[in-house]
Amino acid sequence: MSIISNSLKRIKPSPTIAVTQKARELRAAGKDVIGLGAGEPDFDTPDNIKNAAIKAIKSGDTKYTAVDGTATLKKAIVDKFRRENKLNYSTNQITVGTGGKQVLYNAFMATLNKGDEVIIPAPFWVSYPDMVLLAGGKPKIIKCTEQEGFKLTPKKLKKAISKKTKWLILNSPSNPTGAGYSKKEIQDLAKVLVRNKMVYILSDDIYEHIRYDNFDFFTIAQISKLKDRTLTMNGVSKSYAMTGWRIGYAAGPKDIIKAIGKIQSQSTSNPSSISQAAAVEALNGNQGFIQKRSKAFKERRDFVVKSLNNIKGIKCLTPNGAFYVFPSCKGLLNKKTKFKTDTDFVKKLLEKENVAVVQGSAFGLDGYFRISYATSMKNLKKAMDRIKSFCENLI
Ligand code: PLP
Repeated sequence: MSIISNSLKRIKPSPTIAVTQKARELRAAGKDVIGLGAGEPDFDTPDNIKNAAIKAIKSGDTKYTAVDGTATLKKAIVDKFRRENKLNYSTNQITVGTGGKQVLYNAFMATLNKGDEVIIPAPFWVSYPDMVLLAGGKPKIIKCTEQEGFKLTPKKLKKAISKKTKWLILNSPSNPTGAGYSKKEIQDLAKVLVRNKMVYILSDDIYEHIRYDNFDFFTIAQISKLKDRTLTMNGVSKSYAMTGWRIGYAAGPKDIIKAIGKIQSQSTSNPSSISQAAAVEALNGNQGFIQKRSKAFKERRDFVVKSLNNIKGIKCLTPNGAFYVFPSCKGLLNKKTKFKTDTDFVKKLLEKENVAVVQGSAFGLDGYFRISYATSMKNLKKAMDRIKSFCENLI
């Protein structure tokens, strides 16, 4: 009999973390690897936020806090939702966890019974299906094509809903495609959900602040009658370059918020007191960093999209947000290249040219790969040259 539990056997380690680890190992072995696999901004955390953390340490803010977040941080989150999303919550509708990842994990653990279904539009963030599986639920993956802009349509949503559906996950702007849902697209999905009366919505807004070309951000609770059935998740990791600080949060129905807190009280307890103090400064302090950083990301996005579309066999849509592109490599999967899958393509690219990207199949859609352009222009230029010569040598 195995010591490892059956529920753990249902899941796999994160493929994006695996690629990052592989790139790290190759680099340690002396190879000149360019890692385009990691999902984190290369910018440093702004100084005002760092200083707030130092102040917290020096003033003894170093003890256990309330399990699901300090009163000060919850108030800053309430204010953020009111200011940026026109959403009114009370502090007992807010929970804070160790990263958005923990908040989502707790939400599934708190709500899923065996066999409950969760609709996950693909391409999806790699952790959603495995979290659902761990919690005993059933991921219902709905593929959204490139022609659909990698976005869920009302027709597909309607068809996907069954008596067992508990949640729909929406992630805009999206990891891995960068696609953002317009106000109308969200409202059209909401029409299906309002009629249905049962399904809850998990809106993952972690990339809210990284968007381009005046793309307007809307979250479903703000523009539909579904606020009472929506858990709106967000965090400071991507918006404020704070991935290592581990602070994420959510707002939603009191019973779900309370249940999430109960799980946290018997697992990790509160997120780091110091990180919480830093997150208060991130949310309440000067927001100038967001604009400056988005401008730099936009330059990189434009460069990467243009470079990829100049490569024979590669095709890349222009995303609205986040720091990813999701190009198609279908034009290079054939007898001549001997590549059958995107995984073959990605493996060889790393082996031959030392460029680490992640295969689309890891995100639920074959024939694509994900590039994270959260790295310097210098690295991106080098990487694009290498990808071009790699692809052109194949044909
Ligand atoms: N949601 C999406 C779509 C993400 O890409 C990530 C991180 O990669 C998260 C949630 C979790 O972010 P964190 O746990 O760092 O707050």
